[in-house]
Amino acid sequence: MEHTNNVKLDLAGIGVGPFNLSVAALLADKPQISSRFFESRDSFAWHPGLLLDNTHMQTMFLKDLVTAVNPQSRYSFLNYLVQNKKFYRFLSAELQCISRPEFSDYLAWAAHQLENVQFSTKVEHVEYNGENFTLHTSQGSYQADNLCIGTGKVPAIPDCAKAHISERVFHAAEIGLRERDFTGKRVMIIGGGQSGADIFINALQHKWGKPQSLDWLSRRSNYQPLDEAAFTNEFFTPDYVDAFVNLSPEVKQQEVTNQKLTSDGITQKALLTIYQELYHRFDVLKEDKWVRLLPHRTLTQMSSLGNSFQLTASNALGQSMETHQADIVILATGFEAPYPACLDSILPLFDLDQHNRYQMTPDFEIQWQGQQRNKIFAVNAGMHTHGIAEPQLSLMAWRSARIINSLVGQAVFDTESGQGMIDWLSPSALVEQLVA
Ligand SMILES: Cc1cc2nc3c(=O)[nH]c(=O)nc-3n(C[C@H](O)[C@H](O)[C@H](O)COP(=O)(O)OP(=O)(O)OC[C@H]3O[C@@H](n4cnc5c(N)ncnc54)[C@H](O)[C@@H]3O)c2cc1C
Repeated sequence: MEHTNNVKLDLAGIGVGPFNLSVAALLADKPQISSRFFESRDSFAWHPGLLLDNTHMQTMFLKDLVTAVNPQSRYSFLNYLVQNKKFYRFLSAELQCISRPEFSDYLAWAAHQLENVQFSTKVEHVEYNGENFTLHTSQGSYQADNLCIGTGKVPAIPDCAKAHISERVFHAAEIGLRERDFTGKRVMIIGGGQSGADIFINALQHKWGKPQSLDWLSRRSNYQPLDEAAFTNEFFTPDYVDAFVNLSPEVKQQEVTNQKLTSDGITQKALLTIYQELYHRFDVLKEDKWVRLLPHRTLTQMSSLGNSFQLTASNALGQSMETHQADIVILATGFEAPYPACLDSILPLFDLDQHNRYQMTPDFEIQWQGQQRNKIFAVNAGMHTHGIAEPQLSLMAWRSARIINSLVGQAVFDTESGQGMIDWLSPSALVEQLVA
């Protein structure tokens, strides 16, 4: 029988990735708000299958759990450096961007100190009785007045690959979770984003043994860089998000589409590492060519061929179909966000939009039937409502502060960030929008 806890929470968090962890860390200084964040894993892990060698952050370390709104918090990255006695060496290392293993270590350091984070607790089912929520978990049930959904995303697998998922065909997110041996195998990576690049670098450097061949297939027209220019970074500011939330759904969609590479390109550092490694192997050491770069191709079909696989791809440049063969296929094909299964019974109460997506207020609150009494916040669930910063770390502390302010109904955190560099919407445009 399920154990019922007598705890009544102001806020229950579902999932503890970086985003809900940020909310939890900011709430640690607000003991008047009772909160607990439930995580199914036994300990903190940040995309553990992708914590490979040579993987670096796409964002600066000051974009941590708390600093943007509470630099005095003990859960800042700077405090992590000081407490772990590496502050001076960190400075001397002059790291332009830190490694993902280090940021992951920082997140775990914070998570394991926080008393409002509870591991080994999977939220299985959430019910609403008109007054509050009951969370049925693997460790008993809990009651809460408000929720914050932070369950993250799950691997997206192309339809044609689904029937082949196995030890030899797997999503990028799985690669580091078990021993791999690519020695003498034909390896193909599908997907030209950052994860594809990270895996390509490691395979090129024989992390999993020396493959017979290594192909990197991408739908994009080339191996395209993340746009990290100064003005592009303005998209990752509160100012831009505040302008974005007031746009029409059509304009929002257009903005997100136009900004694809701003969030999904490959870092310059990774691109240069790859280019230099290829140059060294094939132009300096004169190794026989065992690597192929295949941009402009979309995987359309996959079939088994004995112990290997035949992959069909359309080549947008040549306007032709191609077939390739591989023994190992790694799908660096991104992530998707289905509704968390634990919300099944309350989902019918949500006001979804015409594309069945959450509709959200500027304060990251899902619009739903019980909203006047109980709030449901969601993080990493509203790129369509808040723009491309939403799945990113850049504004997580600011977003967490907005959520907490909305939860308590007053500005316990100052979320004003000063006037931005760019006038996204001039006052007259705002007036016209209101009139229309
Ligand atoms: C490899 C990789 C590198 C990235 N690097 C960067 C970067 O450098 N900079 C940047 O800005 N962004 C980066 N991102 C994007 C983004 O910051 C991360 O995806 C981030 O982890 C998202 O955080 P999250 O909290 O939404 O989800 P997640 O990190 O996915 O965490 C969700 C958590 O919820 C738990 N959970 C799910 N369901 C339940 C349940 N029912 N009950 C209890 N627990 C549950 C899961 O176990 C998981 O721990 C990266 C993404 C990836 C995949």
